[in-house]
Amino acid sequence: MHRDVIEKPRTWAVVPNVLEYERARSEFSWAAARAALDGLPGGHGLNIAHEAVDRHAGGRLRDRVALRFLAAAGARTELSYRQLAAETARFANALRALGVGRGDRVFALLGRVPELYVAALGTLKNGSVFCPLFSAFGPEPVRARLELGGARVLVTTEELYRRKVAGIRGALSSLEHVLLAGDAAPAEIPGARALAPLLAGAAPRFEIPPTDPEDLALLHFTSGTTGRPKGAMHVHEAVVAHHATGRIALDLHDDDVFWCTADPGWVTGTSYGIVAPLACGVTSVVDEAEFDADRWYRILEEERVSVWYTAPTAVRMLMKAGAELARGRDLSRLRFVASVGEPLNPEGVVWGLDALGLPVHDNWWQTETGGIMIANLAAMAVRPGSMGRPLPGITAAVVARGPDGRVVEVAEPGVEGELALAPGWPSMFRGYLGDEARYRACFAEGWYLTGDLVRRDADGYFWFVGRKDDVIKSAGHLIGPFEVESALLEHPAVAEAAAIGKPDPVALEFVKAFVSLKPGYAPSEALRLELIGFGRSRLGRAVAPKELDFLPALPRTRSGKIMRRLLKARELGLPEGDTSTLEGGA
Ligand code: ATP
Ligand code: MG
Repeated sequence: MHRDVIEKPRTWAVVPNVLEYERARSEFSWAAARAALDGLPGGHGLNIAHEAVDRHAGGRLRDRVALRFLAAAGARTELSYRQLAAETARFANALRALGVGRGDRVFALLGRVPELYVAALGTLKNGSVFCPLFSAFGPEPVRARLELGGARVLVTTEELYRRKVAGIRGALSSLEHVLLAGDAAPAEIPGARALAPLLAGAAPRFEIPPTDPEDLALLHFTSGTTGRPKGAMHVHEAVVAHHATGRIALDLHDDDVFWCTADPGWVTGTSYGIVAPLACGVTSVVDEAEFDADRWYRILEEERVSVWYTAPTAVRMLMKAGAELARGRDLSRLRFVASVGEPLNPEGVVWGLDALGLPVHDNWWQTETGGIMIANLAAMAVRPGSMGRPLPGITAAVVARGPDGRVVEVAEPGVEGELALAPGWPSMFRGYLGDEARYRACFAEGWYLTGDLVRRDADGYFWFVGRKDDVIKSAGHLIGPFEVESALLEHPAVAEAAAIGKPDPVALEFVKAFVSLKPGYAPSEALRLELIGFGRSRLGRAVAPKELDFLPALPRTRSGKIMRRLLKARELGLPEGDTSTLEGGA
């Protein structure tokens, strides 16, 4: 099914925060966005945790549920804004009592449990720097990140510590304190303390010390899709963007129930799984369990989720499970659905209409940008396959290198080039940890260069072509894997697809595709030929895959991104490179 444009209604049950895109762009200023926040009492600066928690805890929202945790086993725990303020104050006081202060690095290696969220916000209150890691990481990725980040405190569980940290502890010279969720701290773990009694013994009030908006707040490692993960450094001022983009791009309204499915180990799970919804004062649902189609539809229904933020990989898995699963569910509360992390194939956008009664709104950003930059907004017509238009406050351009090697803007529409952003928004990263040269290399002629290739159409919508590293050069064409993959996904047998370039003596490269199949289909020579023919009919000979292999599943990062570089390395018999973020690899 193909649709070029999905129009929006003229009347709204809930009026979107941004009704007119152009007008919102011209009226927007970051100064006004900053003024929509409170700042620390007494003019003592800006602190993420104050904006996300404390400013609500004393006011109208004090008894609203801030976080609702769904445990994997079924239990439900809620923290109101007032309770969250108290718990995070206890955590901040506990850190202070340990002598942990401003700028010190506090890491978490935890599942999506309340302690993770309390630690994150408590750390920020204390002026320390928070860095969440995926609990599924193996010992080596944990070691590399703790060491690079100079972790002084690690918040984890005894079980995770034994499996992932005990064996590498010797390498972690800066690590002093290990806070273990629960009541027990075995004496043989150096620096271990049980978190529950530590918090119970700490005071539930904490005055946030003066915080410079430029103080380091969050450390986030990139997904490692294209190589070794980089540690992006973010400051307290980022909350201005988290709050503004929560309202503009996710259309958060006061009484929303919001569910971001990302783990805080990935930047999405922190910016939009912790900070943005709380800064906007809504109720946020956190599910501890891993993906399960039936469970997810149940959560959407039972928690009465109104705004849902997920990822293309989840959309593809839901498509694979079949829209019938959604049919028996009452999803009438849901009013806005968005996705980020990878290109969202047009099939996925349209699937939303079928299964959820709403299109999926793609948006684009990266660890480095800290927040959403380009998006399909609630009141905007959706063009399936496009990531939308730059948010108010964001200037985006298509750039290319001229003959003299200088970066120049490509003004005419339809031309492929690198996506560039004009620096200056609040959640912009302030550096890569320990790699100043790499940070500097991201900037040229006043632009921040994203490493992604895009096109912009005449109406200002951006279309993702591929990552610079993934683009295939064949017989004088530049082929974006996304185009090839989206075409293959239109075939009813295909659940997931990835395209890579394979060396060719004549064409430089040719396209090879890897696909995994939907339930009910099995690999066969006949199906392979059918898919190659299908690709050719959609894409033409020059762009279509010449080779195609079946895989039971495609290799993915923990944030759900297809790792094309790994498929390529395996295909060509080359070293696999950094696989620390490979899902199922730990
Ligand atoms: P690494 O930089 O370590 O290779 P990564 O780029 O995957 O990993 P993230 O910062 O998590 O790490 O991902 C950002 C990237 O994800 C973007 O630069 C882009 O390539 C891709 N991406 C995110 N959202 C979209 C989207 N809506 N459409 C297309 N691509 C997207
Ligand atoms: Mg990247």
